[in-house]
Amino acid sequence: MHAEVIAIGDELTSGQRLDTNSRWMAAELGVLGIPVTFHTTVPDTLEAGIEAFRLAAGRADVVVVTGGLGPTADDLTRDVLAAVAGVPLDLSEEALVAVESRFTRRNAPMPESNRRQALFPRGSRIIPNPDGTAPGIDIDLDRAGGRCRVFSLPGVPSEMKRMWSDTVELALLGMMPGRVTIVQRRIKCFGAGESTVEAMLPDLIRRGRDPLVGITAHEATITLRIAARGRDEADCLAKIAPTEATIRECLGVIVYGVEDDEIEDATLAAVAADGGSVASVEVGTAGRVATLLAQAAARRATAGAFRGGIVLSQASSVDPRSLAERARREFDAAVGLGVGAVRPAADGRQAVDIAIATADGTTVTEHVLGGGLELAASRATKTALNLVRLQAAGSNRMGREPQA
Ligand code: ATP
Ligand code: MG
Repeated sequence: MHAEVIAIGDELTSGQRLDTNSRWMAAELGVLGIPVTFHTTVPDTLEAGIEAFRLAAGRADVVVVTGGLGPTADDLTRDVLAAVAGVPLDLSEEALVAVESRFTRRNAPMPESNRRQALFPRGSRIIPNPDGTAPGIDIDLDRAGGRCRVFSLPGVPSEMKRMWSDTVELALLGMMPGRVTIVQRRIKCFGAGESTVEAMLPDLIRRGRDPLVGITAHEATITLRIAARGRDEADCLAKIAPTEATIRECLGVIVYGVEDDEIEDATLAAVAADGGSVASVEVGTAGRVATLLAQAAARRATAGAFRGGIVLSQASSVDPRSLAERARREFDAAVGLGVGAVRPAADGRQAVDIAIATADGTTVTEHVLGGGLELAASRATKTALNLVRLQAAGSNRMGREPQA
C-alpha cells in the first residue's frame, strides 16, 4: 500500500505560503508505515485539480488531500472529486446540520455560501470536523485494476490535524492487511512543548511500532495517541497498557488526563480530590479562567470546588499577588489564583505573571507565552489552571515547568 499527497491552493503554488500540511501528513503516513511516492501542489482551478487527482488515483492506493474545502467559489475540491469520480454532488443533510450548528452555536446566521460545504460527491463519506465548518470527504475512486481511497481535509492546519487523528488515521490502520481490531487511546499533556515531549519519549514515536504512538499539539495542549492493532479489543488494550505506563513514567506530571479531558477538568479534579477549593481574580485572560472552571465544575458535578471568579479589565495595573489573595479571601477558598495582565516580552512574545495564594503563603511566577498574540490569553489561562493543578497535586515543581 502506498500513498500520495495533494495540496490545493493558489497561495501555495504562488509561494505566498509554505505547504507545511503536506510535510506533516507525509510524516504521519511514514509513522504508519505507508510510503509516500508523490507530493503534488495545485492552484485553485478545476482543470489542475482534475488532472492531479486522475494521475494520483491511477498510481496510489491512498491519496490524502489538504485545502479547497471552504465555502467560497475558489474552493473547488468537492467539485474536482465529483468530476473525477463521475458522480453528481448531493446535499448531505447530516453535513448540513454539522455546518449549520457551527453558526447556531455562535448565534450567527449561516451565509448561503456555506451550504456548499454540505455538498458531497455521491457515494462519499463525511469526515467530521469538530473545530471548523468544513467537513472532510472520504471517497473511493475507481481505476484500472483497483481502487484508490481519497481523504480530503481542510487547509487550516489545526483542523486538518485533529481530523487526521480522530478519523483518518484509524481508517488507514483499518485498511492495512491482516489487522482486525483497532483501539486508540489518547493521553493529554500540558506544560511542555511538542518537541520537548517528543524528546522525553525515546523510541516511542517511530514508524512501524506496535502500538503506534503519534503526537499532535493544539493551543499548547499536547495529545499522544496510542493506536494498537490486534485480534480483539482485549488484545489491543493489553498492548496499549505498557506503552501508556511508559509514557506516564517518562512524562510524570505533564500528563494531566486522557481522551477528551481538558486541563480545567484535571485542575478541578485535583482540587476536589485534595478536599480543597479554588477561586480566581484575572486581568489578562478576559474571564476565561473563571469560565473554564465553571464549565468543568458543571461537567464534573464538583461545583463546590470552584468558588467563583472576578474579571478585571486589562487597564487595572494590580500586583498579581494581591489578586490571588483577594480571590482567596473574597470567596473563602483554599487556593486563590491571580492572573495578571498579558504584557509584551522579548522577541515579540507575551508574558504573564500568575500568583497562587494558599494558607502557606503566596507565590508569583512569570510565564513567557509562545504562539503569538492571538493565542496568548488562551495559553495564559491554561498555564494558570495547570499551576493550580500542580499545586493541588502536591507538586513542588511550580514555576520550574517548561513554558507553554
Ligand atoms: P478550508 O480550510 O475550509 O478547506 P481552504 O483549504 O481553502 O479552506 P484556505 O482558506 O485556503 O483553506 O486556508 C486556510 C488557512 O490554512 C490559511 O491560513 C492557509 O494559509 C492555511 N493553509 C492552507 N493550506 C495549507 C497548507 N498546505 N499548509 C499550511 N497551511 C495551509
Ligand atoms: Mg484555499
